[in-house]
Amino acid sequence: MSYARFGSGSDVYVYAHVYGFIECCGCSLGDAWDFHSPADIVDHLREHVAAGHNVPDRLLDEALYPPEDFVGMCMVHMCRENAGHDGDHTPTNNERDEQIRTRTTSL
Ligand SMILES: [Zn+2]
Ligand SMILES: [Zn+2]
Repeated sequence: MSYARFGSGSDVYVYAHVYGFIECCGCSLGDAWDFHSPADIVDHLREHVAAGHNVPDRLLDEALYPPEDFVGMCMVHMCRENAGHDGDHTPTNNERDEQIRTRTTSL
C-alpha cells in the first residue's frame, strides 16, 4: 500500500514494498530508497522536511507503519504473514530499483 504519492501536499512517494521494506520512491535526497524500520523511514522523512519538502504529517508517526511492512511478501502465497507455511518472507533488495537508479543517475 502507498502512504503518500507525489501530488498536492506531498513531495514524496512512500509505500510499503512487497519485498519487505518502506520505499521512498524517486527520492530526491539520494539513492537509498529502502528503509527497514519505522524509525528509519521517519528519520528519513524528517530529512525531507528539513530540506523544505512537503511531507504529510501523519507519515512522521512511527506507529503508522505496521510490522508486516517489514516482512517480505512470499511469492508462494502472496502473503506477508509467516503463518507456518513454506513461503520465504526474507526482505529482499529490489533489482528493478537498481535499474531505475542507474538510468536516473546517468541522465
Ligand atoms: Zn526520500
Ligand atoms: Zn507467506
